Order: sequence, then structure tokens, then C-alpha cells
Amino acid sequence: MPPKTHHTPQGFRNNYVGTVTKSLGDLLRWQLDRIRRGLPPPATIPTPVQAPDLNFVKGNAKAGHKMTPAVTWIGHATALVQASGLNVLTDPIFSLRASPVQFLGPARAQPPGVTLADLPRIDVVLISHNHYDHLDRRSILALQGQAGGAPLFLAPIGIKAWLERLGVEHAVELDWWEKHVHAGVEFHFTPAQHWSGRGLHDRNKTLWGAWAATASDFQWFFSGDTGYSQDFSDTRRHFADLQTETQGGGFDVALIAVGACLPRWFMQMQHVDLGEAVQVHLDLGAKCSIGVHWGTFALADDPLDQPLHELAQVRTLKGVSEESFFLLAIGGTRQFARRSAPVDSES
Ligand code: ZN
Ligand code: ZN
Repeated sequence: MPPKTHHTPQGFRNNYVGTVTKSLGDLLRWQLDRIRRGLPPPATIPTPVQAPDLNFVKGNAKAGHKMTPAVTWIGHATALVQASGLNVLTDPIFSLRASPVQFLGPARAQPPGVTLADLPRIDVVLISHNHYDHLDRRSILALQGQAGGAPLFLAPIGIKAWLERLGVEHAVELDWWEKHVHAGVEFHFTPAQHWSGRGLHDRNKTLWGAWAATASDFQWFFSGDTGYSQDFSDTRRHFADLQTETQGGGFDVALIAVGACLPRWFMQMQHVDLGEAVQVHLDLGAKCSIGVHWGTFALADDPLDQPLHELAQVRTLKGVSEESFFLLAIGGTRQFARRSAPVDSES
């Protein structure tokens, strides 16, 4: 376990750049420039949307150890990951706005690809950090009240108390490199380069990070929000013993945040651009990656369709194939092969 240098009396800090939070002056400079230049420009290609395959999703949800690993993109950083017998939701936001209030703030350009009512019973909710577009009060309340019993909420240090104030009973908070085992699946909280805060006085008081879920039949990763850093080669090293070739190699799929990356002078330390996202994919040694956190909320100066325009060029530049790094339509599902499990005999 590495020393906890990311804990400081002033709050949490990143491994490689300390804090990435911008000054109020920088924030104002960015916002004034946005108004002056009319940013972000409207998308020329609407975010692709497709009707979810609910027959598959709901059948698969109950398949237990025969579950087909599958990722369904619901929008923004919200994905339903079905693997190893568990239905897992990442950073659920189903609300109209990513904001403390529902009459102001960034509104979603597309409705959720799967509605709350159409979700299968969720076993585990993973929270990456407490920004409004990743930790949405209404969505947490809805999931807490889901039919069949509340899910387990896994969150970064500092968020458990917030969840409990909402009435969540099963919440576990983790530090970087800690893990929690649920129904045979290991959920590891891993470092990313970002920051936290929902108000004026809680800057970096709660932790942020990424999640890795490992089981003998499938291993996957979710980046949360992050700038580009060595954290992802560290993550690959951390899991090297779990990911030898005989065990099936690196992550079967990584979900990597790609949107809200402009202007670079303001965003670079906290949000990767598409080229850096593909580099994160390579650093992780993932077999394939899906870009998420785009096409849904206009949070920065890049238009919502920017990844659609850049993807082919970035893949060529990085020498990455179409199957290795791709985007889904909102509501779209990608199925994956299960690893043969050399240790477990599955009966
Ligand atoms: Zn964030
Ligand atoms: Zn975000």
C-alpha cells in the first residue's frame, strides 16, 4: 500500500500535480470568453440514440453466473455494466439537469438511454466523485427506493455521510487502492487526476477516483473524470498479478470519460481530450475501451458531438483499431466474451 500522500490537512490532492482546481479569476476569464465567443457551438451531428434492447438487458440481469458481460450506455458517465452476475451502475444521473437545482444549470441534450423504470434491479452503484454530473441526489434516492431492495453504494472517502443523510443504508467508502468484495466481485477504488466539491466550502474535502471491478470471468474499469496522468500506468502495474495472460490479460473493457475537454488551458489538468483518453486506454492495457461522458451535458466549450468528429483521426494517430476504442449510441449495448476461468470450475 503506497503512502497516503494524497491526504493533506487542506483536503485531498492528486498524485502527480497536487490540486487542479482553478482560481476564481481563471473561472471568470473562461466564462467571459464563453459569452464573448458564443461557446459551445451547437453540435452538427446529434448524439446517436437507439432504443435499448430491454429484452436482453432484463434477461441478462437475472442470468446469475451465466450473465453475458455487457455495457449499456445510458448517457454521460452513466452506464449499466452487467458482468459476473451483478448489475452495476456507474455515476447515475437520470435528472434533466446536472445542477443543485432543476431550473438552472446544464440540461441534458438527450433523455437517458434506459429510464429508471426500465432498469433491472441494480446490485451495486459506483460513484467516482461528488460533482453534480456524477452524483445526482434524485437518482440516488430513486435507486435507494428501487423495487427488490436498495443497492450497495460504493463511493470515495467522504461521501458515505452524504449518502447516509439521504437515507442510504448500504454505503461503503474507499480510499485509493482499497477494495470491497461483493458477491465474489472485487471492486477496487483507484487514483485519477481530478478534484471534488459541490459548494463553496467543500473543495477537495471528499476524494475522487476511478473504479476497477475484477472477477474470474470479467474485469472492467471506469475512469470517472480525469486529466491525463501516470495514475493509469500505475493502475496497470497494480493489477499485473491479476491480469497475467493465463488469467486472460488486461481489463476486458474500460469506460473512459472523453467530453468536456475545452478550453485546454482550463480543462487539461482535470479532463482528458480524446487523444489522451486513447492514451489512457493504452496505458491501462485494456483490451478495448468505450468513450463516455460526452454527448449529454454541455459542460465545457467543446460541442457535444466533438468525439464523433475526432475519433477516426485520433485512432489513426494512436494506431488503435475501431474495435479497440469506440463510442456507443445512448441506449446502445455492447456484449463481450467471458474469460474462461482457470481457477473456478463453473458448474
Ligand atoms: Zn468532475
Ligand atoms: Zn464530469
